[in-house]
Amino acid sequence: MSSHDRKTSREDARVDVEELGLDRLVPVNPAAPLDLGDEAARVRGAAGKKDLEHATRRLLDRLEELQDAFYADGRHALLLVLQGRDASGKDGVIKTVYGAFNPTGVRVAAFGPPSSLELKHDFLWRVHQVVPPRGMVGVFNRSHYEDVLAVRVRELASEDVWRPRYAQINAFEEMLHANGVIIRKCFLHVSRDEQRERLQERFDDPRKNWKFRLEDLEDRARWDEYTAAYTEALTRCSTPWAPWYVVPADDKAVRNYLIADMLLRTLESLRSTYPVIQPDVRHAAKHID
Ligand code: AMP
Ligand code: MG
Repeated sequence: MSSHDRKTSREDARVDVEELGLDRLVPVNPAAPLDLGDEAARVRGAAGKKDLEHATRRLLDRLEELQDAFYADGRHALLLVLQGRDASGKDGVIKTVYGAFNPTGVRVAAFGPPSSLELKHDFLWRVHQVVPPRGMVGVFNRSHYEDVLAVRVRELASEDVWRPRYAQINAFEEMLHANGVIIRKCFLHVSRDEQRERLQERFDDPRKNWKFRLEDLEDRARWDEYTAAYTEALTRCSTPWAPWYVVPADDKAVRNYLIADMLLRTLESLRSTYPVIQPDVRHAAKHID
């Protein structure tokens, strides 16, 4: 075995991130200005697709191992919130990164326009119901943040309705955290050009036509309004108990690697352990024939 093979996956991951020309995701600092310009959607000098995918595969293998202990341990739930403009890659992250997990322990929820019943409730009602229970790794494809994003930009409610929601969201997430839910939130940041290409592909490719909606173009036309809404949501709601991360998402391989790396560090920090058999059970088991 070479010295390289003997390195732990943690060391491997540390070497990788430098060698791959990437900076790890760091939480949005609520006290600093946030730059969501097009440049921040790309990483200059990142490794090529093959190397990134290979390194991601290693992270995903390790994530799967950790998920097994996380499930058995059952003290925490993990919730990854994915937000981003149309075609920013939310489905791709779920497929690639969450695809590595044992499906038994996974909960996926997607949020579209609220139903008439949902609109009769408070905006967190439909969200709270699908928060993953302990032992589960969950992911939200869009989330309660739409209630300060789409709702704000498309003027579906007045400002005196949506503005108090930042504080309501922070309180909600703090309550979840206090009850064992580990929350991580990723904004998949794509540039205007990249989104144009991806939307065009949805239009041109018959296998992708179904993903294309007229609303996508309407939202694209409100690019700057969404940037302002995202900037405020990410800074107001990046908290110690539920940090936001801006993921440069023009390159899918970079995006997947950085999210897998962040989740791996999150799961490692929990130090999940396998419950041991109680002495009386162990004693009884001696008599299994
Ligand atoms: P997609 O994720 O592309 O399938 O589209 C879902 C659509 O639902 C997006 O246009 C979202 O903006 C919209 N949506 C999700 N949640 C809400 C909400 N709470 N209020 C209004 N629109 C929403
Ligand atoms: Mg869409």
